[in-house]
Formats: sequence, structure tokens, C-alpha cells
Amino acid sequence: MLFEGAIGAMRPGAGLADYLVLVGIVAASIVAILLVTGAFFEFINARHPERKIQTRVNKNKWRELAYAPGSISMISITFAGGLFCQWQGWSMTPLPLTWWSIPLTLGASMLLYDTWFYWIHRLLHWKPMYRFHTLHHTSVAPTVWTNHHETIVEGVLNQSFYTLIVFVLPIAWPVLVAQKIYDQVSGMLGHAGYEHFASPLARKPWPLACTVFHDQHHGYFRYNFAHTFSVWDRWMGTLHPTYDTTVERFERIDANPKAAGSGQPV
Ligand SMILES: [Zn+2]
Ligand SMILES: [Zn+2]
Repeated sequence: MLFEGAIGAMRPGAGLADYLVLVGIVAASIVAILLVTGAFFEFINARHPERKIQTRVNKNKWRELAYAPGSISMISITFAGGLFCQWQGWSMTPLPLTWWSIPLTLGASMLLYDTWFYWIHRLLHWKPMYRFHTLHHTSVAPTVWTNHHETIVEGVLNQSFYTLIVFVLPIAWPVLVAQKIYDQVSGMLGHAGYEHFASPLARKPWPLACTVFHDQHHGYFRYNFAHTFSVWDRWMGTLHPTYDTTVERFERIDANPKAAGSGQPV
């Protein structure tokens, strides 16, 4: 297999040096995703000022990137850890890639990650833990670059999911890689500050969340703790009361951009 020749960590009995090379490959990939996704959203945000969610302006957006090296390092160490454990046969034996195992394990892993993210996030808002999360909330009006504006502890708590999941779900590594790529892009999308993906699927009775969802978490602080789905927030009563109607408002802006006013006051 091509990868086994290129990535020593895939060979049985691989050592620390192989693992560190893998960490470097993951880190380089995340930086590439960061730059491409960031440039893409800078471009379309500039073309659609009517889609800005808040009237506030984030004056520190470039300074927030100073925390990206620490955040990306934690993501890389934990994600590479999951791959390495599976390749070395220390975790569950993954299912072979088939037409049914791919959507089944991907769907299960995404639901589990949303559950993990919701409750870790609630934990980080608990007073004794909030000091590890306060940095992320200094971005009241997030931008596409805010995703990595976090402490090392917050990064480890969120991302250790990717080390542990291979021990509880027989997910094949290419599926886990696909999920991680989605996670990186959607994490940046959730902070983009502009709503480009408002649709009925992102509001009641559907479970998906669009950019307004996490933007309201930053703007209002006490609501919308989950990541990809709004389900946990709806169940636990932590969904912002105006979330569904705000998504509907952005659907109308998408349909008729000239009717839009400025962003939503918060
Ligand atoms: Zn928070
Ligand atoms: Zn955030």
C-alpha cells in the first residue's frame, strides 16, 4: 500500500520517531486546510457584507492566530495518536471499508463527537474550569481565524476524542480522516462571522446547525454549546431562543440580498 511505504507509523512495531513524523504530517495538513479555508471565507465574506451576523467588529482577528501553533499541535498529537493506536493494533479492529460500514461508522462517530463536544463545552463553562476557556470567549465577534484561539487544555479536552474513539468504535482510519477534515473546515465555518449556509435543514425540526449557531454562543455566551447538530442544546434547553428565527431571517437575506439591513445587533 502506498501509505505504508510513505508513513512508517503504519508498519507493525513502529516507534516514537514514526509517530512524530505522523504528527508532523497531520500538522502540515491542518495548516493547509486552515490557509485554504481561511482564504476562501475571507473572499466570499468580502463579497457578501449583507450576510454579516453581528454588527460588532473583531479588531484582534490576526492576533488570535498567535494561538494557532499550540492549538494545531494539540490537534495533531491527539489525532495522530488515534491513527497510531489503530495501525499498531492496540485499539478495536476497524471494519473493512464497504458501502454500509463507511456511512454507519462516520455517522456514529459524528454523533459521538457532538455529544463529547457538547458536554466538554458545558464542563469548560463550569466556574472551576472556565479559566481554560476564557481565552476563546475573548472573541465576542468571531472570525474564520478564531477556531484555533484556544488554550492548550481546551484543545486537549476537545481533541482527545480522536485518540479515544478508535477504542470504542471500529471506524477505519480513512473514515476518521474524512471526519477530521470536515471537523476542521466546519470549525472554521462556525466562526466565519457571516451566514452563507442558512437553510431549513439548519432549524427546527431538522438537527443541523449553521454559522449563526456558534456565532450566538460567542455573542450571548450561555447558549448553543454543541458543534454540528443542535440536538443536545434543544434537549437540554440551552438553544438560544432566537436561533431558529435568525436562520429564517438569513434565508430571506440569501433570497433577496438587497432587502438586507446591516448585521444583527446583539
Ligand atoms: Zn464556550
Ligand atoms: Zn468558538
